Amino acid sequence: MRLIIEAQICIGCGLCEQICPHVFQLTDEMVAVVRQSTIAVHDVAAVDDAATACPVQAIRWE
Ligand code: SF4
Repeated sequence: MRLIIEAQICIGCGLCEQICPHVFQLTDEMVAVVRQSTIAVHDVAAVDDAATACPVQAIRWE
């Protein structure tokens, strides 16, 4: 599965980066991006936490 951040929806709150900085990064444009193409197994739970915490549901697995 691929981790998706919908840039059009992201409001740049930075919550995902706080929860899982290995995976999420807030750009200078205040949009979250995925830092790595492969998500390590030990990061999956934190990614799911970030997806749940995202206030606009911009993070999802595809
Ligand atoms: S938690 Fe959601 S809205 Fe906030 S920066 Fe991350 S993707 Fe964007």
